[in-house]
Amino acid sequence: MKGRDFWKWKSLKIKLEVKLRDRISIKYEAIIGLEVHAQMLTETKIFCGCSTKFGSEPNTQTCPVCIGMPGVLPVLNKKALEYAIKTGLAMNCTISKFSRFARKNYFYPDLPKGYQISQYELPICEHGNIEIVVNGNIRKIGITRIHMEEDAGKNIHEGAGNYSFVDLNRAGVPLMEIVSEPDIRSAREAVEYMKKMRTILRYLGVCDGNMEQGSLRCDANVSVRPVGQKEFGVKTELKNINSFRFVEKALDYEIKRQIKVIKEGGKILQETRLWDSTQGITEPMRGKEEAHDYRYFPEPDLVPVVVDQKWIDEINASLPELPDIKRERFVSVYGLPENDADFFTSDKPIADWYEEATASYALSVSGHKVVSNWVKGELTRLLNEENRSIEECPLKPLQLADMLTLIDKGTISGKIAKTVFEEMYKTGKDAEVIIKEKGLVQITDEGEIEKAVDEIIAKYPKEVERFKAGEEKLIGFFIGQIMKATKGKANPQIVNELLKKKLST
Ligand code: ADP
Ligand code: ZN
Ligand code: MG
Repeated sequence: MKGRDFWKWKSLKIKLEVKLRDRISIKYEAIIGLEVHAQMLTETKIFCGCSTKFGSEPNTQTCPVCIGMPGVLPVLNKKALEYAIKTGLAMNCTISKFSRFARKNYFYPDLPKGYQISQYELPICEHGNIEIVVNGNIRKIGITRIHMEEDAGKNIHEGAGNYSFVDLNRAGVPLMEIVSEPDIRSAREAVEYMKKMRTILRYLGVCDGNMEQGSLRCDANVSVRPVGQKEFGVKTELKNINSFRFVEKALDYEIKRQIKVIKEGGKILQETRLWDSTQGITEPMRGKEEAHDYRYFPEPDLVPVVVDQKWIDEINASLPELPDIKRERFVSVYGLPENDADFFTSDKPIADWYEEATASYALSVSGHKVVSNWVKGELTRLLNEENRSIEECPLKPLQLADMLTLIDKGTISGKIAKTVFEEMYKTGKDAEVIIKEKGLVQITDEGEIEKAVDEIIAKYPKEVERFKAGEEKLIGFFIGQIMKATKGKANPQIVNELLKKKLST
């Protein structure tokens, strides 16, 4: 190659390399919006009086209304409406004084009427938000809308024969669909959002939040775009996500997949994809062409939903203290570190347990932290070992408070207290009873402790010599031996004092 050709070739090569590098090095960000379905904890279904109980024999909780017989008329369950309004208020929504039900038409064997009664152009709640904390930053996630609708039945594909069954017990169970704005930016944020949502729903008592049983479900919409670009990319919708872990895994997978497709010069198809948890991948389920046209129209069998301000105010006044406020109070009133406050307020029953224990024990801020350490540490460990929730805790908060008082009084040492507490947890007995039964009272009698100290000093003359020669860390060895000899019951302070006195003479 001649000089000029060489330089031409060289500059072309550099240009190409830069172009390629640019394409590879473009940073992408994810845009996520979640559609959450929450089953409401009403006793009866949304448009009839059938029970909503989970797990009964198939088709035992049905009537002409929820199995879609011709000529029947639905009537709205007032409790379901109240729960939807409650949720809307807790999520800072505007409550619509006038809203309407609509028919969403599609065919599926678990939908006996051939349409689902839902809300469409006029939902009960709009324009809300909730706050999440990710990496120490507070992020506000917008709620587009909350609407009421009925759940479908369930197709069952297992059992005898080469056919499927339909169980309509779930048909007509009241649902809320909570739709977020596309404000979520990572899989981690999506999980935090779901967790916060579950916490709030459980605080309100409107949904039990059980993702495994399907009383809380989520569809995740996700797209990616180069950082700095204003327009959103084409989104896919992920279905079949039934745990927090899968929210994160499915989204992480899908975000990586979309970025890879784009970097390789491909295009994202607008489609619904199914999360396959065994393979850890998402797979196409249906594309835009197969998307349903639901032919929504106003439900002619139900009157519009009209609510007055007075009722909204009453519901607002009945709201419990919500997690964010409770968390702030735990920090300011009990002086707890943020971590501890987060831990307790993530679920109301655990917050209640802590508050009851600390109210019966702690008079000082340091006391509140002591209670926190025990609940967060020992108690949680014991509960986790048996996969129990705090509601199934065999101990009462007062029992922990009493035990802590016994430590303060010097009846037991902090170390022995762990043994006592485990025994309390196992038997449900009070600390005092266990201490008596097992003879665990702390030895504070100086004479008795002195005897034990003398014995150990006599038993280890070499170590005593080494200590006196300056090997001071041996003090730990002596304390260990004395505690062992007294089965951990000697008062550590007295042991320490006596030991130091004896070893320095
Ligand atoms: P569709 O018409 O497909 O139902 P919607 O506009 O109703 O879409 O939005 C459904 C959900 O998808 C909402 O939670 C919304 O925030 C989210 N969403 C909308 N557009 C995008 C996008 N480009 N990327 C990610 N999520 C999106
Ligand atoms: Zn019914
Ligand atoms: Mg939509």
